[in-house]
Amino acid sequence: MPQEFNFLSRLTGSFSQSAAGNPTVAMIEAAYRHHGLNWRYINCEVAPERLGDAVRGARAMDWAGFNCSLPHKVAVIEHLDGLGGSAAIMGAVNCAVRRGNEYIGENTDGKGFLMSLEGVVEPRGKRIVLFGAGGAARAIGVELALAGAYSISVVNRSLERGAELVAVINEKTPAKAEQIVWESKYKVHPDADIVINATSIGLYPQVDSRLDIDMESLRPAMIVADVIPNPPHTHLIKDAEARGCAIVDGLGMLVNQGVISIKYWTGIDADATIMRRKLEDIFAGE
Ligand code: NDP
Repeated sequence: MPQEFNFLSRLTGSFSQSAAGNPTVAMIEAAYRHHGLNWRYINCEVAPERLGDAVRGARAMDWAGFNCSLPHKVAVIEHLDGLGGSAAIMGAVNCAVRRGNEYIGENTDGKGFLMSLEGVVEPRGKRIVLFGAGGAARAIGVELALAGAYSISVVNRSLERGAELVAVINEKTPAKAEQIVWESKYKVHPDADIVINATSIGLYPQVDSRLDIDMESLRPAMIVADVIPNPPHTHLIKDAEARGCAIVDGLGMLVNQGVISIKYWTGIDADATIMRRKLEDIFAGE
């Protein structure tokens, strides 16, 4: 019997600028290989003025979907056919998913974080302190609010971005948000349940940078989370561990985003352990 071949892979990928330092391709392709999927993930350098062409190219080649990273998370929306619930509230998309003939924009940044956090604690009814008000904080704040968090204190250096995020949460979700301008050493209120760093403080190569927080104000009952994936053991995570807090690291968030994207595109539940190991090897320089 002649064997039937299939040399045609299903395509997914990422559009960003600059793309070269983004390790997502290695993590996603490790999962595709592990699960025996004839799928590929292509990491593409796309300039802002070419984003429309890139999306049209994906449509022409019948891509199952794509991630969008900086600087395209907002600009991509006009090239899509619709938005998922939380992406519409955030006004930002990092994952487009082909449904029928349409590309629907989702946001897996906050969902990936939530999946990691839920491994330790349910956010429903919790009081949250969220450092930062950029893209990651916005995604996390909205997703936590939709998951039933009671209150979110947004602690941010710049007034405007903090105010924007607080307004989005208060106007579009059932949670209560308040703004705190971060000017000096911040003391975490003893009632806080979950403390999250969603700023870029601690990201490689600035690994020695620390959040301006009074560490004595962290209590052992608090859960402390960090979005920084590289290195995952930030000063905040180490200090919180030393104070007896349960911790959630940023590498888990990155892996879970990938797990959620793969689920959207292929329908399978990818093995997070394989994906995490791949990233750990890369960050360890192997
Ligand atoms: P943005 O540039 O949109 O926002 C950066 C945020 O950090 C702002 O709130 C900014 O405050 C704050 N910030 C930066 N430096 C300082 C400082 N020295 N002191 C106080 N605040 C500071 O970035 P993103 O939100 O897109 O990304 C933030 C981090 O999240 C990145 O490090 C990224 O690696 C990580 N990330 C991790 C993901 C994961 O899967 N683990 C996914 C997405 C992001 P201000 O508004 O005052 O400038």
